[in-house]
Amino acid sequence: MQVWKFGGTSVGMPERMHSIRELLKSDSNRKIVVLSALSGSTNALIAIGEAVKSFDDAKAAVLIDDLKTHYALFVKELYSTPESLQKGQEIVDTEFGYIKSLVGIKPFTIKQDKELVAEGEILSTKMFQAYLEEKGDNSVLLSALDFMRIDADGEPELSVIEDKLVTILNQYPDKATIITQGFICRNPREEVDNLKRGGSDYTASLIGGAIRADEIQIWTDIDGMHNNDPRIVKRTFPIRELTFEEAAELAYFGAKILHPSTITPAKLRGVPVRLKNTMQPEAPGTLIANQTSDREIKAIAAKDNITAIYIHSTRMLNAYGFLRRVFEVFEKYKTPVDMITTSEVSVSVTIDNSENLDKITAELREFADLEEHDVDQNIICIVGNFSADKEGIALKVLDALKHIPIRMISYGASEHNLSLLIHSKYKAEALNVLNERLFYYEDAMKDIFTAP
Ligand code: ADP
Ligand code: ASP
Ligand code: MG
Repeated sequence: MQVWKFGGTSVGMPERMHSIRELLKSDSNRKIVVLSALSGSTNALIAIGEAVKSFDDAKAAVLIDDLKTHYALFVKELYSTPESLQKGQEIVDTEFGYIKSLVGIKPFTIKQDKELVAEGEILSTKMFQAYLEEKGDNSVLLSALDFMRIDADGEPELSVIEDKLVTILNQYPDKATIITQGFICRNPREEVDNLKRGGSDYTASLIGGAIRADEIQIWTDIDGMHNNDPRIVKRTFPIRELTFEEAAELAYFGAKILHPSTITPAKLRGVPVRLKNTMQPEAPGTLIANQTSDREIKAIAAKDNITAIYIHSTRMLNAYGFLRRVFEVFEKYKTPVDMITTSEVSVSVTIDNSENLDKITAELREFADLEEHDVDQNIICIVGNFSADKEGIALKVLDALKHIPIRMISYGASEHNLSLLIHSKYKAEALNVLNERLFYYEDAMKDIFTAP
């Protein structure tokens, strides 16, 4: 069995849904199909919630009507029989009726907000299932709310998901295509919750891990993981193969093509992940598995909105126990630390969740001196094979960045990651100069030597 996930752009137009059906039919494996909301829908639902929270019900009503019109038009093009057209219209009427009832509940709490945002995936999957029914395909729609579970810290519970999903799947042994929603789940209070923005990738990987699928395929709008961020850098190319570790680093450090946690369940259960392009299905994409290829440097990613905290021990020497005390503070506030650098009496760390920054710094000040922290920093992460016997990689990286102030460097923690902290105003420049130096150096040299 395989798990195929289609992202927002892949389901964002009626003809794309038609193409997805063709893609599914062209492959004989039994599949669980995970769908995102139509592109733009989650943003639109969040905007509706924001309007309600700022007591602007009139604005919310306009936004709801606009979104409903979009879906009503979508439905008209998606189906071709009168029965399906009516079914589609009923789905839209029912879900938008529910959306209107949600925003009418006062006070509008986080619980309703999460139910509202979940409607994007609920709509897309219901509409797609009705389309497959129109065509007479052998499919069933399962609600992800019946098996996707997170714990009190928002972490998915893989063994619970496995137990629930396997039980449900046993009821449908003859269904070739099983459709479900990405992104949405239930929390320990049984409320509707989600896996954070971009979370449908994570759903696919959790399902793939839970059922020990043969393969997880993430279908999106680009032909695989590129060597650099194609939104910022002009000359990028797809990487054919990545190890789980390399892909996990790239996703965690900002490669938007994958939700930051996507690789974890797949790696845990050894399920290969293939990234494919819905608009260009014949392109090979990227295979993420255990194998490595020899290329030294594979890709570069950048993680935004980083805060750097600079901590100095007030005791001068032999300050053992200092690091433990520092990290206990971050643990207490459930704040992951991304980068760390140390000297004899100082430690600098970075975080991307600054929700509890004031409390963290206040507690650190009880036993340490703190410099003013820096906000708006960026982690540039270079991923590849940096085993100790490979020479000159750090030189290439630092040489490329010689005109950019570097605040922190982390190298040697693993064999596949070199990270640097810079101010975000240098991000685009850093990604571009690293791209030219690490991937197109021969071209640059050729230009110099052939110049008149
Ligand atoms: P989906 O809606 O299918 O989940 P996303 O927009 O979340 O799609 O992810 C795909 C996008 O990720 C691409 O269109 C591309 O602009 C962006 N992206 C950022 N970094 C990379 C990278 N290193 N490789 C490929 N795509 C990337
Ligand atoms: N629809 C959700 C989002 O836009 C989840 C996803 O697309 O992966 O964040
Ligand atoms: Mg995405």
